[in-house]
Parts: sequence; C-alpha cells; structure tokens
Amino acid sequence: MDAKQLRAVRDMVVTAVAGSKAVTCYHCAADRFRWQRVALASRASLHFGAEFLDDGAIALECVDCGCMLEFREDRIELTRAPSSMRRKS
Ligand SMILES: [Zn+2]
Repeated sequence: MDAKQLRAVRDMVVTAVAGSKAVTCYHCAADRFRWQRVALASRASLHFGAEFLDDGAIALECVDCGCMLEFREDRIELTRAPSSMRRKS
C-alpha cells in the first residue's frame, strides 16, 4: 500500500486484505472498517534515528462495533467497501 493508494481511499469505509486473507473484526466478524494511518516512529526513532520516521501502520476501526485492529502499512491492502452506506449517528 503506497501513499497514492492510501489517498484514493481516504475517508472511505474500506475492506482490507493482509497476508492474502480478508481482514474481519475479531469481535463481531464484520469486514468494513474506517481507517487511519498511525506512526510507529516514536519508539524506533528514539533508538535508531530519523530514517524510521516513514515507518507506519494502518489502524482499522470496525464500523459496526468500534473494535480496533492494527497492521503494518506495507502489509495491508485497503479497498473501498462495496456497500459503504453512511450511518446516521
Ligand atoms: Zn466489530
């Protein structure tokens, strides 16, 4: 997943694939998520310097129950969810 691909699904409800397997919520088994990029840099850069600043992860938030999952950015593919109906809150 590169920056351009991430921009394409920005602010969208997505489905995710990691390790050739579709990601499902381990709490409610739903497969639609909101996502955001999170930095892994703080701990590593403390020890190794700025070259780790680009290291990132993708945090997925289950749309149905709010459960959070995290994957390394370079190991996950996000695709716009086919039926991304917006819920009224
Ligand atoms: Zn869930």
